[in-house]
Amino acid sequence: MSGPHRPESLRRPVRLEIDSDAIAANTRLIDAATNADLLAVVKGDGYGHGAETVARAAVRGGARWLGVTGVDEGLRLREAGLAVPILSWLHAGRLDVATAQAECIDVAIGSFEDLADAVRTARGLRVHVLVDTGLAREGFAESDWPRAAELLAAAERRRRIRVVGLMSHLALAEHPGDPANARQRAAFGRAQALMRSAGLAPSILHLAATAATLTAKETPGTLARVGAGLVGIDLSGTHLLDPAMTLTAPLLDVRDVAAGTASGYGHLWRADRDTRLGLVPVGYADGLPAPLHLERRCSCAAVACPWSGRCP
Ligand SMILES: *Cc1c(COP(=O)(O)O)cnc(C)c1O
Repeated sequence: MSGPHRPESLRRPVRLEIDSDAIAANTRLIDAATNADLLAVVKGDGYGHGAETVARAAVRGGARWLGVTGVDEGLRLREAGLAVPILSWLHAGRLDVATAQAECIDVAIGSFEDLADAVRTARGLRVHVLVDTGLAREGFAESDWPRAAELLAAAERRRRIRVVGLMSHLALAEHPGDPANARQRAAFGRAQALMRSAGLAPSILHLAATAATLTAKETPGTLARVGAGLVGIDLSGTHLLDPAMTLTAPLLDVRDVAAGTASGYGHLWRADRDTRLGLVPVGYADGLPAPLHLERRCSCAAVACPWSGRCP
C-alpha cells in the first residue's frame, strides 16, 4: 500500500516565518512619527503576510483602524474577532452595503455606481468620499466633484448615508520634494471646501500612506493609511523598519569552485575568486518567481548565502 501523495515541495523543509513582534514594533515607530491616528492597511492578505496576523500585530502596536479593499475582507477580520473600526475601498463588483452595515464597516465611495448602490439600500451607512487628486486611479475626478457632492448631500439628507470622511491617495509620496505632492494637497483642500459648501462635514481626513506619513513634517489629515511600512517596506527609505518575513531552508550541498568557474543556468554567474557555493532548495515551487534567479545573477536566489558572500 502506498501512502497519500505528497508533492516533493511539501516535504522539503522550506519555512516562511512571520514576525508579528516586528510588525507591532514597526507600527509603534510609525505611530510615533505622526499626529494622525493610524489605519493599518491589510489588503492583499496583509501584503502576503496574512491579513489577520498583520491586523492583530498592528492593533497591538497602536493602530486604531484597519483598512481593506473589499467588504468581504472586512467581514473576515470581524469573524476573526477584530473589533476596531474598519474602512473598505476599491470594491470589486457591487458594493455590499448590507454586509458593510451589519458588520460596522465604513466604505469609501468614489464612483457614481457605488453611490447609487448606497442610495438604493443603505440606512445611515458611514461613508468616506474618495476623491482623485492626481493619482488618476480611483475616486471621483475633479470635474465630477460638484455633482458627487450634490448627490452625497441629498443621500445624507435622506439619512441613507453619513459622510464621515474624505480621502485621496498620493502618486509620488516617495519623493516628498516633488511638486506633484503639493498639487495633490491643494486639490484635497479644494475637495474639502467643496464638500463643506454642499453641506457635508467629513471630519476624518486622510491622504497619507507609508511614505507620506514617514517623510512629511506634518502628515496631512487626521488618519494615516499605512500598509507596506507595517511589514517593513519603506520606499521612502527614511526609517529603519524591520522586515517581518523570513524565508529559510537548509543547505543541501556545498561545493568548492575555482576562480573563473561559471555556475547555474545560462552560466550567468561566474566566481571571481575561489568560492564555496551552497545549494538551497528554494525556487519556483515555493512561489519565488523563476526570473529572480536570472535577475540576481546568482545561483542562490533571494536567500543569504554566507559562503559566496554574493547574495543580499
Ligand atoms: C494600498 C493603499 C494604502 C497603503 O499604502 P502603503 O504605501 O502600502 O502604505 C493607502 N491608501 C490606499 C488608498 C491604498 O490603496
